[in-house]
Amino acid sequence: METIKAHGKFHAAHRQLDYDGKCAYVHGHTWRGTFVVRAERFPRLEKLDMSLDFGALKGIFKFLDHKMLIAARDATFLNADLFEPEGVVVMPGENPSVENVAAYCLDRAVEVLEGLFPGRGIEYHIEVVIQETDNNFFLAERRVEI
Ligand SMILES: [Zn+2]
Repeated sequence: METIKAHGKFHAAHRQLDYDGKCAYVHGHTWRGTFVVRAERFPRLEKLDMSLDFGALKGIFKFLDHKMLIAARDATFLNADLFEPEGVVVMPGENPSVENVAAYCLDRAVEVLEGLFPGRGIEYHIEVVIQETDNNFFLAERRVEI
C-alpha cells in the first residue's frame, strides 16, 4: 500500500446563511487542509517515475486562497457588478460549511487523479481533512476507481 500526503493552507472568507449566530456574517479563516491518498500502488508518470505531483493536490487549496467561499443560493456574491467573479468560489450544498469545503476539495482531488491517470482501473482511497479553526476539523473520505 502506498500513501501520499499533502498539506496546504488558504485564507478565505465565508458566511453561513440562516445561521443563528455570528457565523451568519462574513468572516475569514486561515483554513488548513491535508489530503491523504492511498492506492495499492500508484501509477507512475513515465520518465519522472513519480506518482502524484504534490503540487497538483496542494493547488486545490491554493486556488481557494483569498477567495470568498459561497453557496450557490448566496446571490449577493454572484452579482458580478458587486464582486469580482474570480474572487468567488461556489461550494456544493446549502452553505460553505467546513463539510462542504471538504466535499469540494474531494471532488477536485478526484478530478486531479482522473486527469493524471485516466482509465487505469485503480482503486484510490482519498481522505481530506479541513481545519477551519484551531480546534475544528472535518474529515471526509471517498473510495473511487479510476
Ligand atoms: Zn467560519
